[in-house]
Amino acid sequence: MSGIDIEISEVGPRDGLQSISSIMPTAAKKAWISAEAAAGMPEIEVGSFVPPKLMPQLADTGEIVAHALTIEGLRVAVLVPNKKGAENACVSGAHKITIPLSVSETHSLANVRRTHAQVLNEVRDIAALIKDQPADKRPTLEGGLSTAFGCTLEGVVPQAKVVEMAEKLMAAGCDEVGISDTTGFATPTHVRQLVRAVRAEVGPQAAPSIHLHNTRGLGLANVLVALEEGITTVDASLGGIGGCPAAPGASGNIVTEDLAFMLDAMGLKTGIDLEKLLAVRSIVTQALPQEEMYGFTPEAGLPLGYAPLAQR
Ligand code: ZN
Repeated sequence: MSGIDIEISEVGPRDGLQSISSIMPTAAKKAWISAEAAAGMPEIEVGSFVPPKLMPQLADTGEIVAHALTIEGLRVAVLVPNKKGAENACVSGAHKITIPLSVSETHSLANVRRTHAQVLNEVRDIAALIKDQPADKRPTLEGGLSTAFGCTLEGVVPQAKVVEMAEKLMAAGCDEVGISDTTGFATPTHVRQLVRAVRAEVGPQAAPSIHLHNTRGLGLANVLVALEEGITTVDASLGGIGGCPAAPGASGNIVTEDLAFMLDAMGLKTGIDLEKLLAVRSIVTQALPQEEMYGFTPEAGLPLGYAPLAQR
């Protein structure tokens, strides 16, 4: 996108909402997405095409995508667990599809009951499905390298395994891979090593993004290192919604508001209007009053006389 240095991809409506038991009303989701897009968010992951029985929180994804597509200039992203989900995503007209692959095979078997080989077969099928779409309707296909920094079941996930899976996802037909700290294990040194290794393997253009959680409070430190390694797209969720039950007080994803403030204050263009972004939070708190929202910037507000570094 022109005029933007670093893109934030809002994943709250998917990653945040899937992690909590409350179900956000469809109208509130639409209001959230509209308001955040109006604040300048370039990309929003709006839902996931999973069976509604498994994830009733996201059962309205088709309707949410349809709404999001009416917003000019917004890139509409969805997650899919399999080919069936990808078929629904193609029908919906979403611009970007992410299919996760757990680099920890134990995690993959426990979560989606599939081996790496089976997931990669599914990715090949999805890539073929996308090729069959009219040229102007083909979504971007991202392979998500889940549990890239460690696994709650296996523990350590070797860097060589992440690199191998990145290469295999690209060979299976993905347009890009995303490095994902699904479990909140990442630390700055680990981020530097892994981002460098993956980008060296698949090429920097094919690994532009990172997905981080703030489980241990290292989210923004991890972002800084990722930026130094050339990452240009960072996932975050408004209010860090979807906190980890295993780590009380820890937000889910890194907090969009804090990330946007940090980047803006550093003089990096995100396209986001901070005042407008901070105002979006009330839509979510009103719709989900029982859910905890995180973030320091939304609590403290912008500093007196605040202006981005570049404008001073
Ligand atoms: Zn996540």
